[in-house]
Amino acid sequence: MSDRILLAIPNVGDAEARNLKACIDENFVSTVGRFVGELEEKCADISGTSMGVATAAGTQALHMSLRALNIGADDLVILPSFTFIASANAIRHSGAMPWLMDISNDWTLCPEAVSRALEANCTIENGQCIHRPTGKRVAAMMPVYTLGTPADMSALNAIAKRWHLKTIADAAAAIGVSIAGAPIGEFADATCYSFNGNKTITCGGGGMIVGNDETMMKRAKHLTTTARVPPNYDHDEVGYNYRMTNLEAAVGCAQMGKLDDFLIAKQRIRKAYNTAFADRAGIVDFPAPAERTSTCWFSGFVFEDPKHAVSTFCEHLNAYNIEARPFWKPVHLQVPYKDAPYEDMSKTESLWNRIVTLPCSTSLSASDQDRVIECTLRALDEMGVS
Ligand SMILES: *Cc1c(COP(=O)(O)O)cnc(C)c1O
Repeated sequence: MSDRILLAIPNVGDAEARNLKACIDENFVSTVGRFVGELEEKCADISGTSMGVATAAGTQALHMSLRALNIGADDLVILPSFTFIASANAIRHSGAMPWLMDISNDWTLCPEAVSRALEANCTIENGQCIHRPTGKRVAAMMPVYTLGTPADMSALNAIAKRWHLKTIADAAAAIGVSIAGAPIGEFADATCYSFNGNKTITCGGGGMIVGNDETMMKRAKHLTTTARVPPNYDHDEVGYNYRMTNLEAAVGCAQMGKLDDFLIAKQRIRKAYNTAFADRAGIVDFPAPAERTSTCWFSGFVFEDPKHAVSTFCEHLNAYNIEARPFWKPVHLQVPYKDAPYEDMSKTESLWNRIVTLPCSTSLSASDQDRVIECTLRALDEMGVS
């Protein structure tokens, strides 16, 4: 049988090995070392921001952004329900609660839904947005750049301004993309990346905040480093040990050198699937909104009819030794968030269990992708999808 083709695996090699060897030769393997600062700079540069703050995970980058913007207990944060649960967890870690909303056809936070919910439930009091049903402050919105595609930030920022909300972008897999030609960092108060193993680039594990508000960014750095006031053991608040290690940053710096090639590979993979499935009845492409570039973090297709079970399709592909998976189950359907307030979820509920993700590693060869395509078409025939 041919080798198993996995969904999304790291693509590391000699450049990463060289940087790791340098860490060991220089004896900088922990949370201090030149690669951490270098990665922060590289991420800020590519995002069009003045600063970057590294963390040990993307979840921590989101959590620290909220804390650095003074968001916490008794606050609500607007979040699309269609996201990975880590976005909601970061909000809960800060003490705040997600206020869950629907997505648009582009699978990102729907500006009309947000505006409607705010108009119906909120009032501005003393410069703050107050949610009348609970009396809580609505402090921020956290758009998610689903599949590495930015949300409609010009519409969302207009709403944020009108309602005095901060913006924290969950750009976990969206490093390197742009909105109307401008890098994404300038479209939110804080923009957060993840360097987990299945993301566009990886550090093994890790995260990064980028932003232009240097007071906020310095506070984020302070919080991630035990809120220590140098030179000795003085600390001015309850901080966190959320630092990235030099080993992780060394891998990340090497990956940043390959980002352009990775983005080309991801986009080529997306295009090859779309072309191969263009004439296949019963399935449609992932969305590709105009004016916004995408990392095409994941590729795959959507069943038009929910009667076709994604799990059945994945079993068929598994039998061909190919990994295929469903995508995010919405947050409002998850046990830990059963008490989080949520609005109309028509789009989210009709979409989420029709999505199939297919192998899309940057190292996926053309012949392996051909095998995935052939087996997908065969499985669709076997399932009677038309
Ligand atoms: C991966 C991911 C995260 C969390 O990142 P970690 O580095 O795994 O903590 C958050 N949000 C989204 C949308 C993600 O895809």
